[in-house]
Amino acid sequence: MRTSIKIKFSIFLAVLLLLTVFILSLLVLRGIKVNQQGQYEVYLDQQAQRANIYFMQTLLAEDNKVPQTFLETKGEEFVEELELISGQLLVLYDRKGTLVSKKVDHMESDSIQKTLKFALSNKTAYLVEKDSLYYLTPLKVANEQVGVVQFYYSLSGEHEFYNRIRQLFISIGAVVFFLSFILAYFYFSFFANGIIRLEKMVARVREGHYDTTILLRRDEIGKLSEGIYAMSGRIKRTIQDMEGEQKKLTLAINKLSLLDQQQKQFIGNVTHEFKTPLTSIKAYIDLLEMYPDDDKLLETAKINIKDETQRLYEMVEKVLQLSAMEKYDFEYNMEKLDVKQAIQGVINSLKGKIDKFKIKLETDLTEAYVEADKDSMTIILVNLMDNAIKYNKTRGNIYVKNYVKDAQAIIEIADTGIGIPKELLHKIYEPFFTVDKNRSRENGGAGLGLSLAKKYAETQGGSIILVSTSSEGTIFRILFPAYRPSGQENN
Ligand code: ADP
Repeated sequence: MRTSIKIKFSIFLAVLLLLTVFILSLLVLRGIKVNQQGQYEVYLDQQAQRANIYFMQTLLAEDNKVPQTFLETKGEEFVEELELISGQLLVLYDRKGTLVSKKVDHMESDSIQKTLKFALSNKTAYLVEKDSLYYLTPLKVANEQVGVVQFYYSLSGEHEFYNRIRQLFISIGAVVFFLSFILAYFYFSFFANGIIRLEKMVARVREGHYDTTILLRRDEIGKLSEGIYAMSGRIKRTIQDMEGEQKKLTLAINKLSLLDQQQKQFIGNVTHEFKTPLTSIKAYIDLLEMYPDDDKLLETAKINIKDETQRLYEMVEKVLQLSAMEKYDFEYNMEKLDVKQAIQGVINSLKGKIDKFKIKLETDLTEAYVEADKDSMTIILVNLMDNAIKYNKTRGNIYVKNYVKDAQAIIEIADTGIGIPKELLHKIYEPFFTVDKNRSRENGGAGLGLSLAKKYAETQGGSIILVSTSSEGTIFRILFPAYRPSGQENN
């Protein structure tokens, strides 16, 4: 389990403060000890001086002024008097260290004996044992040691005071520790919460969620959150860009594979459509080789070979035009084109075919102009007119009219033909598509006319639309932007 940063900081601060209290208590307690020692040393020194003065006074008042004999005879009496004066328990030794005061039932431990030995060499010494202090000081007469006075001093008061202060420090230490821990915990919570939120943000970014927020704080944590916000935003944008590019790439790949497929299909169709007339021509040539003298066969072969050759020629022409338009951008010879004249030109060129199919042609032509390439417009018109003838009924009608509407020059070709089944309408502009192969073949069509016408129209800013189709007939419309002299805008 991870220890929270709040707890770590709080413990650290509490321990730091506890250490401070500990060092402070050491210094204070040491000071107290030194002070207490100084005080009782001064006090006992004064007691020692007093004892010496009193001994001198007592000795002077005596007849026998020999200190040794005095101690032997009146030593015990002197001790009692001195105890009364000083208020201390006393023990008196003579110069040899022999006990003078018999009354005291005091300890004669080794350590006391050692201290006594030291005191007998005219020096003051003391011994501390638990709460008791034994202060041994020389008794002197005219600077000559005559014995040793031992004071007993109780240290229980000092020790009690010292212990009380120590206990106080322990309590203070405990209070400081817990209080500082609690305060620090709340104080660090504020910082730690920011860090915890940052950590959560980073974890979310790691999981791919880039919607981060800025923490409204005026410290480094606030700045850090701004940094994370900016970084995650940038990552998000980069990923979005990458996804966009990937989508475009997928679309391009799909388009390419579709184009590839269309191209393969186109080549397949071309091969197939070319094969049929070629097979027919070859068959007639084979027959002619077999029956060279058959005049009737020769006549039929001539007509059929001519028709099939014509069909092949037209097909090659259209296929070349279509594939050239796929590959190259042509420079069209754009000019102000008289629509009425163009329609009349095409009608004239198809006159033979119209008569052959016994079609009644009606026109309603008005003066209109477009900006277009003349040859392209002719190809478009020829293909649509040709379809209106080919897929018409015998003695059917064709109605051609043109007009201008909404800045568009419109040509409408209506026929009373067989119409196109609704379910196949979406395919009529595909190359090589025919509703009825045989009918198309009979009339020299291979399904290229509409796709070629549409391409020509669109490359020049025009369009072809199928207005309606039924068993009653079909209406196609060609739309081109009407010609406007340079400087004028279409509305
Ligand atoms: P095709 O060169 O064989 O005529 P198109 O590309 O011009 O081919 O036309 C495609 C198909 O659309 C034709 O095979 C025909 O079935 C149908 N079609 C085109 N125009 C008409 C029309 N006016 N009336 C009936 N069917 C038509």
